[in-house]
Order: sequence, then structure tokens, then C-alpha cells
Amino acid sequence: MNDIKQIDHIGIAVENLDESIDLYRKLGFKISSTEEVPDQKVKIAFVETGESRIELLEPSSPKSPIAKFIDKKGPGIHHMAVQVDDLKAKLTQLKKDGIRLIDKQPRSGSHGLSIAFIHPKATDGVLLELCEKSD
Ligand code: ZN
Repeated sequence: MNDIKQIDHIGIAVENLDESIDLYRKLGFKISSTEEVPDQKVKIAFVETGESRIELLEPSSPKSPIAKFIDKKGPGIHHMAVQVDDLKAKLTQLKKDGIRLIDKQPRSGSHGLSIAFIHPKATDGVLLELCEKSD
């Protein structure tokens, strides 16, 4: 079976990554790394929270989906990411089950993960990211 394993991270849209990093440090969180994901037009910082993480996302272009999200709703929780063993198989299964997907094929995310998003209309308004670790 290709069940969901655990929450990998919670994605939070922010306007200014450096300011948010300072804020999270002040709150007592540990920032592990930052990187840019050109595919999604975002700059990312990972905040460690035990087995899962928080992903702070700043748009690196006005065309970024994160920029559009902030325009509409302001900064805040953007998505939840969960781990699966075999993303391709999972997407095939979801398609068969009639679940509306944003990504029909895996694409590359942060930390070398393979990722795909499920449409929030299919998941009670939560943007759900599936991710597969390639180790
Ligand atoms: Zn994410």
C-alpha cells in the first residue's frame, strides 16, 4: 500500500524571509537551511521542529504562486506536506479515485524532494503537498 507516512512540513507564506527568520529565532526555533527553488519561484528557510519542519516561503518573483497567495490572503499557512513512499504510484491511484490534482506528474521541490500538489478543492480547502524522499 502507498499510505501517507507523516507530516513532512507545514509551508508558511512570508513577505520577507530574513525578517521571518529573525522572528522564528526569537521565538526559539532553530533554522536549519535556506535555499532557492526556481521551479516554484520561492526562497525557502527550513525551521526544525523534531521529525517534521516548518517551511518559510518568500516569493522570489511577483509571478510566484506564493506572491499570489499573499496578495489574496496575506501571509500565513499556505500548505501542508506529507510523505509518501512512491509518489508516482500515489498520483496514479489518486487520479483513478477521481481526486483533483494540480500536478499530475512529480516535480522537483526543496531538499531534492519529488513533490506534487493536490487541488485544495479536493481536500477541504487545504493545499496538500505529497513528497517523496530520494535519500
Ligand atoms: Zn512545501
